[in-house]
Amino acid sequence: MNFEKKNSMEIKKINRNIIYRLIYKSKKTSKQEIANRLGMSLPTVTQNLKILKEEGLIMEDGEFESTGGRKAKTIICIKDSKVSLGMDITKNHISIVSVDLMGNIIKSNRVFKKFKNTDCYFKELNEILENFVEDSKISREKILGVGISVPGILSNDKRYVLYSHALELSNMECKNFDEFISYSCVISNDANAASIAETWNLDDINNIVYISLSNTVGGAILLNNKIYEGGNQRSGEIGHMTIIPDGKGCYCGKKGCVDAYSSALCLSKHTNGNLEEFFNILNKDNNKIKKVWDDYLNYLSIVINNLRMLFDCNVILGGYVGAYMEKYFNDLKELVNNRNAFERESNFLRVCRYKKESSAVGAALIHIDKFINSI
Ligand SMILES: [Zn+2]
Repeated sequence: MNFEKKNSMEIKKINRNIIYRLIYKSKKTSKQEIANRLGMSLPTVTQNLKILKEEGLIMEDGEFESTGGRKAKTIICIKDSKVSLGMDITKNHISIVSVDLMGNIIKSNRVFKKFKNTDCYFKELNEILENFVEDSKISREKILGVGISVPGILSNDKRYVLYSHALELSNMECKNFDEFISYSCVISNDANAASIAETWNLDDINNIVYISLSNTVGGAILLNNKIYEGGNQRSGEIGHMTIIPDGKGCYCGKKGCVDAYSSALCLSKHTNGNLEEFFNILNKDNNKIKKVWDDYLNYLSIVINNLRMLFDCNVILGGYVGAYMEKYFNDLKELVNNRNAFERESNFLRVCRYKKESSAVGAALIHIDKFINSI
């Protein structure tokens, strides 16, 4: 008896989740349309809509144009009924974003703060977070949690940052974050988090390779919408693939790694560390800078072609350089086309959607994904 009851409760919950997801994806719909599309009875839909409305997740918002008979009420998601926070920790900065249920950035802030593995740093991190929440005027009940992205390799159970070159640490316990932050925390690798942001709500992409072209080169592999982490959480370390035998030195100590040819530093080192200035000068047809850029694109096209040959899936360019790539995308595509043994057009290649803070957004979305699954 109990078993049967539990089962029917579960079915009700599954129905409610399916209905919510349909409203979420449709942007706007009606009771009748939900019933038709999901093959559910009107009373079942009505009952579930009532619960979703009581939970503050959906609302009626006007009426559809009449097609004869009574006008149908428009049902939409309340996209900021819950909010998730994302923090991206880098060597010198902390970025914070608040994100609504759709993945839109509500507010973002970036502060200069050198990372230190000390109680004092984590205490200040929490103060920065609390100030952000206060300035945003978000009520605490709405906050699902904080997703934290770090430039490092995490342990399988996500309890340790095993290694981070940028943060100069090894074997740091992630509970350092939990101890100082009062919200539920999830920790993620920065490139993995960015790949989540870049594929959020995209129905046509299940498999991608994400390349992060920031001050170091990282990456993430998404297979069947799940991050492929590898045997040692080190998959997608695109920066340390060898591109030129015995080539330029990489920070890892080896020679000829992708990082030595494709990091944002390869460009910004020509303009006193200022990447924006690099692109400003490039746009003024400076010959020296143009040669640096042409070489950069050429090496990048090799990396992209290798990844396409290996995975035969979409490749997304992100990170600091990815944010500037739109303007030069056709040049890059042509170089990639020339290397491709099978395809004439590089339609698999995409530029990142989030020009800033993709890692913080992706980390925040981990909480949103959990929440939507729990409805
Ligand atoms: Zn390397």
